[in-house]
Amino acid sequence: VDPHPSALHAFRDAVRRAPDRTALAYFDGRLSYAEADALSDGVAGHLAARGFRPGDRAAIMLQNTPHFVLALLGVWKAGGIVVPVNPMYKSAEMTHVLTDAEVTALVCADRAWDAFLRATAAAAPSVRIALTACELDLQTRDDTRVLRGERLGPREGADDLLAAARAYEGRPPGVTPPAAADTALISYTSGTSGTPKGATNTHGNIAYNAERQRTGLALPDGATYFALAPLFHITGMVCELAACFTNAGTLALAYRFEPGVVLDAFLEHRPAYTVGPSTAYMALAAQPGVTREHFASFASLSSGGAPLPPALVEKFRAAFGPYLHNGYGLTECTAPCASVPPGREAPVDPASGTLAVGVPGPDTVVRIIDDRGRAVPFGEQGEIAVRGPQVVPGYWRRPDATAETLPDGELRTGDIGFMDPDGWLYVVDRKKDMINASGFKVWPREVEDVLYGHPAVREAAVVGVPDAYRGESVKAYVSLRPGQRAEPAELAGYCRERLAAYKYPRQVEILPELPKTTSGKILRRELRGRG
Ligand code: ATP
Repeated sequence: VDPHPSALHAFRDAVRRAPDRTALAYFDGRLSYAEADALSDGVAGHLAARGFRPGDRAAIMLQNTPHFVLALLGVWKAGGIVVPVNPMYKSAEMTHVLTDAEVTALVCADRAWDAFLRATAAAAPSVRIALTACELDLQTRDDTRVLRGERLGPREGADDLLAAARAYEGRPPGVTPPAAADTALISYTSGTSGTPKGATNTHGNIAYNAERQRTGLALPDGATYFALAPLFHITGMVCELAACFTNAGTLALAYRFEPGVVLDAFLEHRPAYTVGPSTAYMALAAQPGVTREHFASFASLSSGGAPLPPALVEKFRAAFGPYLHNGYGLTECTAPCASVPPGREAPVDPASGTLAVGVPGPDTVVRIIDDRGRAVPFGEQGEIAVRGPQVVPGYWRRPDATAETLPDGELRTGDIGFMDPDGWLYVVDRKKDMINASGFKVWPREVEDVLYGHPAVREAAVVGVPDAYRGESVKAYVSLRPGQRAEPAELAGYCRERLAAYKYPRQVEILPELPKTTSGKILRRELRGRG
């Protein structure tokens, strides 16, 4: 694999090769590579004219819109570092990220700017430049179900992103193109485990994984990629955006994950590839009116970033045709470090029923280690440790966290897993999610995988709850498929028939929906708090 030094190089290459090809498709709006290039030059020029310098940080707080992509390219063209911020963040989370990264420029939706001024501006004095994006700008369809609301103008104190990009006269200043070792992103981990810290993904980390994706999938030049995962999350940024540009493809966007809108967009854009968390596929499969036709254009579908229950893979294939390819990664390894190669199927471990997450990439070394950092034999469980060209050099201004999580450059993932002699990697669960019931180890994943086999179950999450007698006991939270019924006792009984006695959930609670991060992961931490 010989990648471009950066995704920006890949984008510029695509502009040279296919200037008139559609780079971004958003509902009825289209931007060609040449147009996206000119507009992002404008963003870069605007930032530079306002004192933004190479190495400065710009936060982008937008959903999956063309504005996100134009802002990202513009910041990179100006030599800056992008801090993707989840637009759902509340003031305290936003303040943490903006102050920790000492952000100078903020790009956000116009409505979010008002909220920023009200709640966060005083706490984040480093923000000097503001660009707001009118989210309806490139969208012409009237019957919008996602983007309700009037067309709003730029807000006081902020410039309108597209207007600023169009108005900038001349070329942006000649900033040296990024080198592979330069920091491209500060990615704050999605926060399933506490206060977010910023992983510093380099341009080389991103370009490597994007190129791996391109060669691995072997999609035709110019193929359409659908951004199912949010672009502010590393999976969307790398496997969708950067991989698409590396292939001079079309990136189709649909604001945020809304199952009905996404299915319509599949029919409209006919994408060849997408990747999202397993929960997104569960939601698509449960959507009224979904048919095989919705998935007919895909050459490959990937599930990554969250556990993929084997029962879902089978149900999905039986109902819609495609096989869901599992992939394993973390923010700290710039999205995937192991995946199921196209044309192959992941084995299921007969003892635990766990589906393999994939095989490590060619330049990636995965070790399963014990508490003292020594490799354990095949089949034995231990912590997954990863070394490779996609692993970040460290955390932003956190030498303590870097030394702890990346000793000698090897990433300690905090995930427990094992490897089989054929090189397939299995993720058992997160180290910190283990339940200790009367001294017995229970991994929530194994119980969840069983629950997913029940026909009425849509989502399942298993946590440990305090128990005077056992220390901890196993509790399952479940949501049901539309139109299905099941009683808690029936679900507990279903698990009891299939699991060792200490593993089945003593309590089952049915909720309308399980809490999730905006990237679609079920938040066990929040459920644990419910008791
Ligand atoms: P935080 O680091 O704040 O807890 P997060 O872990 O959700 O947030 P990410 O880097 O997005 O942040 O998630 C990586 C984690 O997701 C992995 O450590 C692993 O636990 C889980 N994961 C990713 N892919 C898979 C997969 N295919 N199967 C099982 N688990 C997965």
